Amino acid sequence: MNYKISNGRLLIDDGDKISVRSEDLYIRDGKISFIPFSQGETFETVDAKSRLVMPGLINMHTHAYMTIMRNYADDVPFTDWLFNGVMPVEDRLPAEAARWASLLAFIEMIRTGTTCFVDMHMYHRQSPLAAKQAGMRGFIGRGLVGDDLFEKGNNRFREALEEKAEFECGTLKFVLSPHAIYTCSTTLLRQVAEQSRELSMLKQIHLSESVTELKDCLEKHGMTPVRLLADLGFLDDKTILAHCVQMQGGDLDLIRESGSTIVTNPASNAKLGNGFAPVADILRKNINLCIGTDGTASNNTLNMFRELGLLSLIHKGIEHDPAALPAETAVRAATVNAAKALHMEERLGVIREGACADLIFLDLREPSLFPGNNILSSLCYSANGSEVESVMIDGKFVMRNREMLTIDTEQVYYEVQKAADLYL
Ligand SMILES: [Zn+2]
Repeated sequence: MNYKISNGRLLIDDGDKISVRSEDLYIRDGKISFIPFSQGETFETVDAKSRLVMPGLINMHTHAYMTIMRNYADDVPFTDWLFNGVMPVEDRLPAEAARWASLLAFIEMIRTGTTCFVDMHMYHRQSPLAAKQAGMRGFIGRGLVGDDLFEKGNNRFREALEEKAEFECGTLKFVLSPHAIYTCSTTLLRQVAEQSRELSMLKQIHLSESVTELKDCLEKHGMTPVRLLADLGFLDDKTILAHCVQMQGGDLDLIRESGSTIVTNPASNAKLGNGFAPVADILRKNINLCIGTDGTASNNTLNMFRELGLLSLIHKGIEHDPAALPAETAVRAATVNAAKALHMEERLGVIREGACADLIFLDLREPSLFPGNNILSSLCYSANGSEVESVMIDGKFVMRNREMLTIDTEQVYYEVQKAADLYL
């Protein structure tokens, strides 16, 4: 279906600045256009009066299946949370439960304006199966751990490639996803770097998330986690680094020179008591900065509007500087910067001719956005996600007038609750 979106206000990022314009928009074959339909073209008109139409937000680091563990292991130290909370549940949770939990994640993402997510998952085929059903745009990776990608008994790399072969399409792409430097050997990390170049695939990893990780790495390897990855040939412009909280002298320069992206996860880092990434330094050094929620076991929401606000507020506070992280910077971290990290600059995170029609419609008459003194500011400081009224991904509505169109929410709630009762 083609659409004419009329009477709306559009959030336009021209590279210099973000502005709000009143203009009609045309969705033709899943792509954004400013060129009106000609006679003979069929389309439906969408009245977007009192709506802000903007690019869908891109959550650059999450674990969708983790919704099943929302509020399960809170208020405990990071290593307890991971090794005694999360990992034992992952061991006993059946794959099908992970698919229902991923669908629950997509309900929350869509309702709060996220159209694209970068996932690291632990259950073969479940995340792409769920994303395909939901109509989400995803960059998905089977979590890799162990000593050697190709060793007998370690099936994860094979599964990662099987998922890519089975599901890769216009909306689903695949990312090599070694879990962390403390769950993967240096051999495996070097192999991932080689495979990323050979297969021309993006790669992601959790990095320098906690003081323990930094201390252990210094003891074991005599260098920081960032230096370790640089030495292994892991850092390049196809690398997405989640967290980067514990940065030592020279680490940020290595990241900048490599062209890698940092994804900061402010709520997760704060909640697990890990601190905050040095965001002001990251911006000063011109490193590509994106935002993630991380999984719901450590956030505990997938609401990117909350994350935008937190990112800005926390770093203004840390820097004692109200100009440290303006609203425009936060919005870009969740849109165009993410598109750059994903090598989709022309097509994602922006309203421009020929870009993918991943759009969200916000009701400007919700009290949190009213009056519209500064719409861009309101997205960072006032929006809470409940203003999202309709969501389009790849030119198809997945939610319209707050009705979910691709997911049976009641069935998802039933199945997730059943699995939580059985396995948590
Ligand atoms: Zn994570």
